[in-house]
This record gives sequence, structure tokens and C-alpha cells, in this order.
Amino acid sequence: MQTTIAILPGDGIGTEVTREAVKVLRAVEQKFGHQFELPEALIGGAGLDAEDDPFPQQTADICADATAVLLGAVGGPKWDSVATEKRPEKGLLRLRAALDVFANLRPVAPHPILADASPLRADLLQGVDIMVVRELTGGIYFGEKERTADSATDVCTYTRSEIERVLRIAGKLAQGRRQKVTSVDKSNVLETSRLWREVTNELMPREFGDLELEHLLVDAAAMHLLSRPADFDVIVTENMFGDILTDEASMLAGSMGMLPSASLNDGARGLYEPIHGSAPDIAGQNKANPCGTILSAAMLLRLSLGLEEEAASVENAVNQVLSDGLRTGDIAKPGEAVVNTADMGSAIAAAIDAAN
Ligand code: NAD
Repeated sequence: MQTTIAILPGDGIGTEVTREAVKVLRAVEQKFGHQFELPEALIGGAGLDAEDDPFPQQTADICADATAVLLGAVGGPKWDSVATEKRPEKGLLRLRAALDVFANLRPVAPHPILADASPLRADLLQGVDIMVVRELTGGIYFGEKERTADSATDVCTYTRSEIERVLRIAGKLAQGRRQKVTSVDKSNVLETSRLWREVTNELMPREFGDLELEHLLVDAAAMHLLSRPADFDVIVTENMFGDILTDEASMLAGSMGMLPSASLNDGARGLYEPIHGSAPDIAGQNKANPCGTILSAAMLLRLSLGLEEEAASVENAVNQVLSDGLRTGDIAKPGEAVVNTADMGSAIAAAIDAAN
């Protein structure tokens, strides 16, 4: 099978962690007899430096021809003062728009061995395996904005179809997991949330009658994520609530360096990236944890390419090296030996190769 995956390293540690994910994809290719085309393209500050554009046309063309896109991270202090339209983050927004991805998936399943890296008590983390599905293209972030010296307005709008399409993604995911969807809103005060809940109550029983459906107000959800995280399976919510809850949920796993994400559209094409940024404080030092990007590549194999066995082999390999005691600095306990980015990637690739 010949498949094209666009590789966009971006800036800072983005280049270091995607290099390791490519190593892992090559190991999967070897092990399972696939052929992956992995063209690289510029985005963010790297695009700006080379082409005066954070999302150059050549990058857009490569992504348009690819089945999926694997991204590192964009941004850094070097570009902090450039005009808004040219900011590295603008490149990411244009990429999301080009791929038409509207659902952002963030799995949080802390590895038991890393329980010490989380600020939560280890007993609360037992059995935690959450998939947060955040609506990515609607809501208050994209509404009309107004500003005078003394007042400011951000309009929040959702349409029925925007809510339905993200609910369908959440429902399908729950069917392959533990059969439960928790929908998070603020329907006691917001009209958009009342529509959200109404549409959820219509669509879920009709299309996903086999699933358990729970509603939570966002303030309660923020609390329950910390007090009973193991009770959640799939959480689905609107853009801003998802933005906040996913960062909260990431703390269950301890380090941002461990967590992957996927952004999906109606079809198979998706954008896969770790949840962290370009980490200028450790960039260029071979210190970054590549696991979040490598686990993003596993999501890509599963969700865009339908390669379940291959995806599981990557996830098993990450678990294997963690069980063997390998730690990058962000997940090491004080005094514990640490490995560098490249060694971590190589160990995961070798574990894929060595698996039965
Ligand atoms: P960050 O995620 O880059 O870093 C936060 C902290 O976590 C830093 O101390 C960093 O060293 C550490 N960290 C992050 N990833 C790590 C990894 N893989 N291994 C070990 N440690 C890791 O967030 P920030 O410092 O707020 O932002 C830095 C730049 O990244 C900014 O320009 C920001 O705009 C950009 N950013 C980009 C994205 C993206 O590309 N999707 C996301 C967030 C931030």
C-alpha cells in the first residue's frame, strides 16, 4: 500500500520530535510491508523565514495531495513581533482551514508508570482513559468581535449542523470504546448551550441509542475531571470549553510531552500533532520528549489510514520503552537517568521492530 503523509516539522522542538516520529513510521513500514511517501514541507516561522509566508503555497499543495498531515509545532520568540497575518500561528489556522478539520480529539490515558509525574494522586488516576472531542471551528473564537475603549463584545454562534457533525464523531469513537458520551455545555445560562443540549438529546438516542449519554455543565465537568476522572469515556464539547478542559485533562498525564492529538473532517483526512508548542526553552538541545508526536503518528495510522494493528504496535512500543525505564527529562523523577530525544525515538522504533 502506497500512502502519502505530509510531514510539517515547523519550529523549535517541532523539528526534533517529528524526526523521531518519521523514524517510527519507517519502522512500521518495514515491519508491516507498507510504503509511505513522507514529503516534508515548511510551516510557521520556518515558512516565514524561507518564503515570507507561514503557510507557503508549496506546503498547501503537498498537504492537499496527502492522506494525512503530521505536524510538529510552530512559533517562537523570533517571530513574536511580526504582523498578525504573518504570525506562525496563522500558518496553523490556515492549514486547519485548508484541511477543513472541525473536530479535535485529545486522548488522555496516563501510563501507570508515570503516575508520579501527575499532580493528581495515583489512586485517582487508576483506569483513566478519556477521549476529549472539541469542536474546533465554531463558537466564540470565530464570532464577530467589537471593541471600543470601554466595551468589548465576542459573539458566540453555533448551528445545528456544526453540533451534529461533531457529535457524530464523538458517538462513533464511543462505539469503539466504553460506550459512553458525556456532553459538556452551559445550558443553564447560554443560548448556544441550550441548542447544543437540544441537538444532543435528539441526535444521540436516534443515531447512537446503544450509548450511555450524560450531560454536565462545564463548571461541574471541570471539577469531576479531577475528582472522578476514571468515570469518563468520550467527552464532547464546544470550542472554548474544550480548549480549557483539554489543558486541564492534560495534567492527568503529567507532561505535555506525552500527549497526542488529531483534528478530523468528515472524511479520512486528518491533521495530527502533539499538544505541546515549540518549547523555545529546550529547542535545539535534543531534550524534548518525542512520545506525544509518536503517539500522534499512531492516531494517524488508526484514524486516517485504518491501520489498527500498526497503530497498536506503536502504542505498545511506547509503553514498552516506558516500562523498560527510559525517560526524557520531563517525565524523569529527580535523580533518575534521562535519555535524549533521538535515543527515545530510536528505542521506540527498535521496540516495533522487535515485537512478535
Ligand atoms: P510549550 O508547549 O512550547 O512549552 C511549555 C513548557 O513545556 C516548556 O517548559 C517546554 O520546555 C515544555 N515542553 C513542551 N513540550 C515538551 C516536550 N515534548 N518535551 C519536554 N518538555 C516539553 O508552550 P509555550 O512555551 O507556551 O509556547 C512556546 C511557543 O509555542 C509559542 O510561540 C507558542 O505560540 C507556540 N505554541 C504552538 C503550538 C502549536 O504549534 N500547536 C501550541 C502551543 C504553543
